Amino acid sequence: MFSLWKDHLRDHPKNELILKFLSCVGKRALAALFPHKCLVCGRYIRFRPQPATPTVEPLLCHLFCSACLETGVNPIESPLCTQCGKPFASRTGTDHPCADCLHASDPTHDRIGMVRAFGHYDALLKECIHLLKYRKKTSLARPLGRLMFQTFQHHFVTGPLHVIVPVPLHRKRLVHRGFNQAYLLVHEFPRLFKEWAGVAPGWTISNSLLFRSRNTLSQTGFDKARRAENIKGAFRVKHPSKVQGKRLILTDDVYTTGATAREAASTLFKAGALSVDLLVLARA
Ligand SMILES: [Zn+2]
Ligand SMILES: [Zn+2]
Repeated sequence: MFSLWKDHLRDHPKNELILKFLSCVGKRALAALFPHKCLVCGRYIRFRPQPATPTVEPLLCHLFCSACLETGVNPIESPLCTQCGKPFASRTGTDHPCADCLHASDPTHDRIGMVRAFGHYDALLKECIHLLKYRKKTSLARPLGRLMFQTFQHHFVTGPLHVIVPVPLHRKRLVHRGFNQAYLLVHEFPRLFKEWAGVAPGWTISNSLLFRSRNTLSQTGFDKARRAENIKGAFRVKHPSKVQGKRLILTDDVYTTGATAREAASTLFKAGALSVDLLVLARA
């Protein structure tokens, strides 16, 4: 009933202001009656009207107090490597391949095509990922997923794409954690795409194309070589026919040395994938 009334008001441009005013009053009243606590420090969050621009703060301001928000999220911006997505130390100039990518022994075959991350794995974004993964604050998945969608829009939305594949957890870890953060971060992508483009996406998200056949040790604390060794042979493709000739994007929460993503991509390439890109929330 209320939504019908809201839609009726929205049909009349003069009423848009009244609607905004009522919405603001309603939010203030709710915030005064049921104040939220900051996910980091536990202080009560004071209500702040949200700015209209879709920046980082409006997405997170109902979850963190001003002081914790001020620790900041640092988005990754150009100039960066066109392939591995590493941001260059120099903040001027255009995107181009970095020295590592130029000198890679096999620059085209069976390699992740493009790696892109929303932000640096530091400050508030690092805190957010820890809260989501280790303290199960799943209310963060929605705003963090929206930030990741901004990166998807910027770098991937026009390219050919068939399936988004969240990097899978082993069944035992999935049962222990209760969710796969790599999936939670992208599960709203089809809805966000439709909102933005006005049409349903031509791609899907799949949790079943790839699975983790071996329960590996946590990669935390391992160096690059140890990470690659630890993850070797950990993934399998259930039905190679569903991967053959397909263009895929792997998704994950953090990119550290890239060992996990490389192993997952290599498994997908062996099953016949045409291309594999990687989209993550943060890059260490
Ligand atoms: Zn706080
Ligand atoms: Zn590079």
